[in-house]
Amino acid sequence: MTVSADGLPPLREVISKHALRAQKSLGQNFLLDLNLTGKIARQAGDLSKCDVLEIGPGPGGLTRALLYEGARRVVAVERDERCMPALAEISDHYDGRLKVISGDALALDPTQYLNGPIKIIANLPYNIGTELLVRWLTPPQWPPYWDSLTLMFQREVAKRIVAQPGSKAYGRLSVLAQWRSDAKIVMDLPPQAFTPAPKVSSAVVHITKCDKPKFDCNAKMLERVVATAFNQRRKMLRASLKSLAPDIEDRLNAVGIPPTERAEQLSVEQFCILSNQF
Ligand code: SAM
Repeated sequence: MTVSADGLPPLREVISKHALRAQKSLGQNFLLDLNLTGKIARQAGDLSKCDVLEIGPGPGGLTRALLYEGARRVVAVERDERCMPALAEISDHYDGRLKVISGDALALDPTQYLNGPIKIIANLPYNIGTELLVRWLTPPQWPPYWDSLTLMFQREVAKRIVAQPGSKAYGRLSVLAQWRSDAKIVMDLPPQAFTPAPKVSSAVVHITKCDKPKFDCNAKMLERVVATAFNQRRKMLRASLKSLAPDIEDRLNAVGIPPTERAEQLSVEQFCILSNQF
């Protein structure tokens, strides 16, 4: 029997042994190269004093790298029951440092299983990646329970997260990610890195929380203002934000934002100042 550097069977063998044919409906594009998953794990920095939350471990390529790189503990949430036996083998090999929770990451709260400091590291299923990111970025209280997020996205989504005002990619995700944290793209991956290969390229984004927001404002209100403004991004703010307040033009003028500007021209600070008007 062949074994990988971590003493477990190669991922291709694991997949064939447990018949883990990738399912599109679950956003399954697996990483089978442990050198690559090791590189992703290292983007999150020293893991030895942290608990890691992983969403969607699948057959365990990234999970194994996180444990091999020395994570204190990994808590992994997976929806696909078929992956449980493969993940149980990893848990046995790593003497209980891996806890697997079977279920939908959108429906359960894993924080009860985690001790701080906490890093979230995942190759996210593309269909729920944005929803999870927005939830992690918009808790009412700050700092959040996590210290950093190291996440794989479709490259186009990654570019939106780090985009600056004035660019086409700048939008809701950019403002929410840059208001209370710092975000950067740390790795690019071609489609061929995955099995099966998706149609588009991917990128890993590393987001570190700030101890406090860069600008004071209410998270729910900012989310609402930003979503409304970018919903009609080509319109001037006096039109795109009209549904928030009939006197929007006065409110924009009151904070020194020309009502003829478009959403993509406002800085994160201006969005915060504007949100405080509501
Ligand atoms: N981490 C593995 C890797 O890198 O090879 C698999 C990544 S694959 C892109 C996404 C994983 O998320 C799949 O294993 C899929 O079954 C799982 N998944 C999809 N929807 C989920 C959900 N709602 N909750 C938890 N896991 C989910």
